[in-house]
Amino acid sequence: MSIFNLDILERELSLAKSVAITGHIRPDGDCIGSCTALYQYLMDCRNELGLEQIDIYLEPFGQEFNILSATDIVRHSYDYNDTYDVLITLDCSSLDRLGHATKYFKSAKRTICIDHHITNNYFADVNHVVADASSTCEVIYNLLDYNRITKEIAQSLYLGIIHDTGIFRHTSTSDKTMEIAASLIRKGIDFTKLIDETFTQKTYAQMQILGRALFESVLLMDGKIIASSINLDTMKFYGVTHTDLDGIIDQLRTAKGTEVAIFVYETEDGDNKVSLRSNGLVNVSKIAHFFGGGGHVKAAGFSIKGTANDAIASIIPHIEEQFNSEQEIPNP
Ligand code: AMP
Ligand code: MN
Ligand code: MN
Repeated sequence: MSIFNLDILERELSLAKSVAITGHIRPDGDCIGSCTALYQYLMDCRNELGLEQIDIYLEPFGQEFNILSATDIVRHSYDYNDTYDVLITLDCSSLDRLGHATKYFKSAKRTICIDHHITNNYFADVNHVVADASSTCEVIYNLLDYNRITKEIAQSLYLGIIHDTGIFRHTSTSDKTMEIAASLIRKGIDFTKLIDETFTQKTYAQMQILGRALFESVLLMDGKIIASSINLDTMKFYGVTHTDLDGIIDQLRTAKGTEVAIFVYETEDGDNKVSLRSNGLVNVSKIAHFFGGGGHVKAAGFSIKGTANDAIASIIPHIEEQFNSEQEIPNP
């Protein structure tokens, strides 16, 4: 009986005794959902696969994600001397996005990358990249035996899907995504609670910083671009960290008439993290890729040094160029 719908994955894991699961830096819902889903599935199948040790490594994330099972076993520090037979990276498009977990990637005997980013550069020994999937959780769902998906695993997968699709609103949502969501609901998950507690609800400080970012936003290129930024001093003033800034970019994107939203925040190491969203005419993954980042056609990001205003100014010519070339962008 197959445990996975991907022979190579089954083969690699049955040869292993120890497995580490990890995802990209500044983990989001899809990253946390896919890591905890795969972890729980492997734990349930560990005797059949002959696995003795399974760990998850992720950078710290917002406490709202603790609604998922297995978040309590996630290791947030990287000072363990463990080496692993297999390291699996989820939702990560390139090695530089692994952060401190790169240590385990380098020392692992075999590496597997499961992802859905169009900009993925196939950096592992085994790469399973489905660029038209809504989320890594959708990719993971398709690899698992439905009968072995528990309610807890279904919660993790559902959470990842709703976070990466903006609750089934982005064009990355397909008929298959909706069918998968229906199958996960059949497992008895409390989807309202998952959406309310991890997506909709905000702390007072999160609302304040969202308000500040919207208030200080500017329109550029005759209103085709909306841009805003938050620096470390402002984050300190409101007592928030970068995990409290999730959702600001998606709110900026809703400004009527805009084609591209840009949100920049200052990181602890003095860099700027840039998020880009497109409403359809501009391929932002191309722009992010130019600046050494990546993502999807309508949602992408990168890091850059300098001031936030310099970062915004350097993006504008790339958007203008795409407007002038009148290219067709792929869907999603
Ligand atoms: P964000 O704006 O951080 O929400 O990211 C939007 C999308 O772009 C997500 O799929 C990210 O995984 C991807 N992304 C963001 N920053 C980077 C980066 N520096 N390199 C590659 N992909 C990125
Ligand atoms: Mn992600
Ligand atoms: Mn994702």
